[in-house]
This record gives sequence, structure tokens and C-alpha cells, in this order.
Amino acid sequence: MLKKLKFEELGLSKEVLRAIADLGFEEASPIQSEAIPVVMTGRDIIGQAMTGSGKTAAFGIPLIEKVDTKQRIPQALVLCPTRELAIQVAGEINKLSKYRLQIPALPIYGGQPIERQIHALRRGAKIIVATPGRLCDHLERNTISLKAVKMVVLDEADEMLDMGFRDDIEAILKQTPSTRQTLLFSATMPAPILHIARTYQKDPHIIRVAHEKVTVPAIEQVYYEIESSRKADLLTRIIDINNPKRVIVFCNTKRRVDDLVHDLHGRGYSADGIHGDMTQQKRNRVMDRFRKGTTDILVATDVAARGIDVSDIDIVFNYEIPQDEESYVHRIGRTGRAGKAGKAFSLVSGHEMYRFRAVMRYTRANITKLPVPSFKEIEEVKTNKMLNTVRSAIQEKNLENYAQMIECLLREEFTSLDIAAALLKLYLHKSQPQPKPQQERAEHSSRDGAPRRQRHFNRR
Ligand code: AMP
Repeated sequence: MLKKLKFEELGLSKEVLRAIADLGFEEASPIQSEAIPVVMTGRDIIGQAMTGSGKTAAFGIPLIEKVDTKQRIPQALVLCPTRELAIQVAGEINKLSKYRLQIPALPIYGGQPIERQIHALRRGAKIIVATPGRLCDHLERNTISLKAVKMVVLDEADEMLDMGFRDDIEAILKQTPSTRQTLLFSATMPAPILHIARTYQKDPHIIRVAHEKVTVPAIEQVYYEIESSRKADLLTRIIDINNPKRVIVFCNTKRRVDDLVHDLHGRGYSADGIHGDMTQQKRNRVMDRFRKGTTDILVATDVAARGIDVSDIDIVFNYEIPQDEESYVHRIGRTGRAGKAGKAFSLVSGHEMYRFRAVMRYTRANITKLPVPSFKEIEEVKTNKMLNTVRSAIQEKNLENYAQMIECLLREEFTSLDIAAALLKLYLHKSQPQPKPQQERAEHSSRDGAPRRQRHFNRR
């Protein structure tokens, strides 16, 4: 297992730790665990990491910690290949710095009126996140000074070189003090990147998040491509179709766990969340309920799931794709124990596909893509299941008492078809999870926020 540290072990300020807690990050990802302490000591690094690994926070956190809050001049510079990435990186840094820096990190990119950027620069941003072309325009106009820059990050350096930014990057680096710290992140390490590293870095510490060999358990693995906003809907559809007894749903953050549990309750499912912010006592209570089958769905973060020892998990869901490939293997290893067939379903949203491909490469497993089931297909599956239940009830006989009741209705001149249809309607209505109205949900909430009276999956 890759080394993963708690953020509290990284010597960060209480302001940054508070922002991390707000984001619901439970532990540092492997790249963060390794990069943050090294960058904090002032050393250059080369990080071979891809999008989704948590690399933005890996360089963003030390940047935020190291800038002087009193100096109103750019002290840290992040270079990104595209305007979208610049906006995204600045956004992530701002979420992490909200309790420490009053002036947010400023994205500088082509396409936006340069006057607006000049105006924004006057507010005194300490961290600039820029595309190389537009930053060079500012340097030519003398509207940005890089003389106080202590740290430079080249993010997605291979992409920047592919886009022809090499001269711009070199021109920019030459305008920063030679005493600066230089952090280079790149998914690949072709010769031109190594050349930049040799020319502009000092004794860089190289971080390649290497993997241990793992055995991927023999589990049926499938995935769906679906927008984030439709994941809860798909999750419940799959649950309805498969009718499992016990499932674990994995999320990447504590916040997402809480949100999903709330959403599932709203849809009438019996779910509990478990994550590192909960007391041991509360975790024990949740686990007890899950073991006994009082709750069928356990929504968990990776950290919380490590201590869980429950066999008989029918399905593991990756509601979000984990930041490192090994976590995927650990998550799905929760199902299919003791010679039982288990299933792992991954719900992959657009931007997660990149990381999911890395999971597929790493595990070399045959993960099949399935089409998102339509509402009609789900209804068909449910109808078939239900008809089979009726068929077996007829075959089992012992229906005399019920037959007498039906005869009563037949004497009232209802047809047998009417009676059967009405009974089916009543049966189906009763066995569907029904969302509870808000008020009722509040009344039935127990002290820890979980509804006391919940419906279970349709066990037919
Ligand atoms: P990045 O690789 O920087 O593009 O990050 C991918 C996503 O992971 C972003 O949405 C981050 O907010 C999120 N993220 C970063 N670090 C963590 C962490 N330690 N735990 C959970 N999520 C994280």
C-alpha cells in the first residue's frame, strides 16, 4: 500500500487544516503525502503525477503556507497549459487558502480583457496562476513583476511543451529570482522536460508514485459513464435491479458521504455513512446496524472502510473514482469474500475517466462498460421478478384460504382479472421505496441524523 499520511501529520497551519476539513478530505493522497513535506523544506521537486491524483493540493498547500501574508506582491507563480486549468487550479488554491489569505489567487489567461487583469493585479494577489502566453504579454507591458517570486510551479509541463510554450516558459523563468524554488509536475518525462529540469532546477527530489504489485480479486467488474449529478439516480436504479442484501458505496470525501446518505434517505433507502470524523462509538453503532442488516447500504470513505470486517458484501460501488489505483483494488476486495461471487460497479463521470483508465491499466482487469439502464428496463426487470414470485407462490399451493377470499370478490361480480390487477397494484405500491416528505423525515430522525424507520430493498 502506498504511503498516505493524515493532514495533521504534515505540520500545516490551523487555517489550512480548517479549509481541508471543510473540503472533507480525509487523508492526504500519496502524491500529497510525499510532496508536501519536501516542498515545505524548500527543496525543488519533479512530480510524475496525473490529473486526479490530488497534485494541485500537493503544490497548492505548501504555496499557501509559504507566502508572506504581509507582502502584497506576487510571491508564487503557477504556470498551466490552458485557461480552463488555470481557472481550476486558482479555484482549488482559493478553497484551500480561504482562512489564510485575504486576497485570492489570481488566474491570468488569454481571452480575458488584459485591462481587467491589470486592475485585478493591483489588489495585490500573492499567488498568480497563469498561462505562459498571457503572462509574457503582461511582462512585456510591465504590468506584472516577478522579482519577489519565491516559488514557481510548472503544472502539466509536458502539455505546455506540446503546445509550443517552451520559449515563453524559459523567458518567464529567467525573470524570476535564481533563488526561487521550482516545482515541476508532468504526467510524462520526455527529454525536453528533463532538459528544463536540468537547466532550471537545483537537485530536485523526484517523486514517482510507484505501485506495489497487487492481486486483483476475481470479481465481476463493470462501469457506467454518467454525469456526477445523475449518479445517485443510477446508484438506486442498479440497487433496485440487483436487489442486493448488503452494499458498500465508496466516496472520496467525508462531505460526499454525508451528502449521499442524506440523498438516499430522501429516496427512501436505508443507508448509513461512516467516516473519520465520527467518534468510535458512533462508528460501532453504524457497523452494528450494517452487520445486523438494519441498514443495507453503507456509504464510506477509504479510511473508515479500512477497519471494517463484514463478509457477505454483495456489491461494492465506486461512487467516485479513488485518487490512486491501489485504493480501487482495496475497495473492490471488500466483496466476493469466502468464495462468494462479488460485484464491483464504478460510476465514472467525464473528468474521472482519465483516472479510471489508469485504474484499468494498473489492474489489467477486464472492466466492462455497461449502458445506463433506462427507467423502462428497470420496470421490466422488476415486473419479471415480481411475476416469478407470483408463479412460485402458485406452484407452492397452500392457497385455499386466499382462494376463498377471492371467491367473495367474484360473487360481487368483479372479474378475476380486475382482482388480480388490484392486488398487484397494492403489492407493488407497498414494496417500492417511497420518499418520505421532509417533515416526516425530520420527525423520524434519531439523534445521529439517521432516520429510525426506513424502508429496505424489495426483498421478494
Ligand atoms: P487534482 O489531481 O489536483 O486535479 O485533484 C482531483 C480532485 O481530487 C479535486 O477535485 C480535488 O479537490 C480532490 N482532492 C485533492 N486532494 C484530495 C484528498 N486528499 N482527498 C480527497 N479528495 C481530494
